Amino acid sequence: MKRIAVLGAGLGGTIMAYELRDRLGRDVEIHLLSKGATYSFVPSNPWVAVGWRGREEIEVDLRPACAKRNVTLHSQGATRVHPGENRVEMTDGSSLDYDYLVIATGPDLAFDEIEGFGPHHHTQSVCHIDHALAAKEAFDRLVAKPGPVVIGAVQGASCFGPAYEFAFILDKALRDARIRDRVPMTFVTSEPYIGHLGLDGVGDTKGLLESALRSKHIKWVTNARVNRFEADKVVAEEINEDGSVKTTHEIPSAYTMMLPAFRGVEAIKGIDGLTNPRGFVIVDKHQQNPTFPNIFSVGVCVAIPPMGKTPVPVGVPKTGFMIESMVTATAHNIANLIAGKEANAQGTWNAVCLADFGDGGIAFVAQPQLPPRNVNWSSQGKWVHAAKIGFEKYFLYKVKLGKSEPFYEKLALQALGIDKLKAVNFDS
Ligand code: FAD
Repeated sequence: MKRIAVLGAGLGGTIMAYELRDRLGRDVEIHLLSKGATYSFVPSNPWVAVGWRGREEIEVDLRPACAKRNVTLHSQGATRVHPGENRVEMTDGSSLDYDYLVIATGPDLAFDEIEGFGPHHHTQSVCHIDHALAAKEAFDRLVAKPGPVVIGAVQGASCFGPAYEFAFILDKALRDARIRDRVPMTFVTSEPYIGHLGLDGVGDTKGLLESALRSKHIKWVTNARVNRFEADKVVAEEINEDGSVKTTHEIPSAYTMMLPAFRGVEAIKGIDGLTNPRGFVIVDKHQQNPTFPNIFSVGVCVAIPPMGKTPVPVGVPKTGFMIESMVTATAHNIANLIAGKEANAQGTWNAVCLADFGDGGIAFVAQPQLPPRNVNWSSQGKWVHAAKIGFEKYFLYKVKLGKSEPFYEKLALQALGIDKLKAVNFDS
């Protein structure tokens, strides 16, 4: 019996395990290698950071679902992948051999690349539930003693949607607390323009987000390269097109939350042929590593080149639906390899994103991700907030029940003209 190991039980890894079970039936062993036995829904962290959600509302115990789906859960965490030996080494010294491995380890948060950065220093984070809970305590301190706020994304970041989202959510939470008038807010971003999002804009995200920032009285600095974070300020250089420094900003801040750059996690970093210099997994259009063809990868840990040159480096975001499309392609391709066929399915990598503003929001669809596009659409309205809640509830329900994609979800997406797989000949 073939053994498939999925490393990482986040948004990509959990549904990867379930979708492999759906596609391959009982004829394979599926092992899910996680850090702890809990799934945590990362997109809800901005709500946690202002007290709109608690830990228990966005976490799921993976044990019952894995037991139900006959997926063996190893919750001790992995220390190293040994691709030459088809083996993953675990923190307790044990090893798991595999026939196929799917790496879904998400990001390592590169706070150490900037002085004073990160939840152990002078800034808050919404990238992990523990960070978001600490950010909620800092929010309470801000409410008790109002002061200036800086929100944004640093050089090399790729996840811009949550930065905008958090700026607007914080604005709403501060208005609810009746202290917004005592909290000057600045959005500081490495993007060349507001609404670039690492995608060179989608539809009119530039106009929509500039207008939203203006109407909420949030100032902004673009092309920003942060030098350092101090307890009471952010020091950032604004960079010209030619790379020279236009001006250095010293922005007072009593509360700072900026998205960090991402890189690959320790367990996969520096493996020749598997990962790039930043530690992201190298894959071809079938999610398959060219050097180790029995290794696939999905999610934020996949290497995707930036869209083009920008004065300050920005990465390409990997959003939930795009990750789901990688998962579907990978399940199809592993099934093909087991059946003695070639990997031939490609994820669409469409960027579909809902950016919640607390009482409204902006949605965009970039299909394909890189311009020129067939679908280049963005819109705003109160419905986005409702849709984001729907996404949260539905995703948590899927993880809890061990479902990858129930039929009606597929139907709804196809009705919108959004598919997870590029058309391929599924008989081959
Ligand atoms: P993760 O969900 O981070 O999962 C990786 C998992 O691997 C983690 O559980 C981690 O513990 C585990 N792992 C790592 N190393 C090891 C190891 N050595 N051994 C065992 N396990 C390991 N996308 C959207 O589409 N919509 C949104 O609204 C949205 N909001 C976001 C908000 C924030 C704050 C962030 C940071 C991202 C958001 N994203 C959103 C982007 C993306 O969908 C999420 O980041 C998503 O969680 C990425 O899924 P993933 O599986 O790649 O990584």
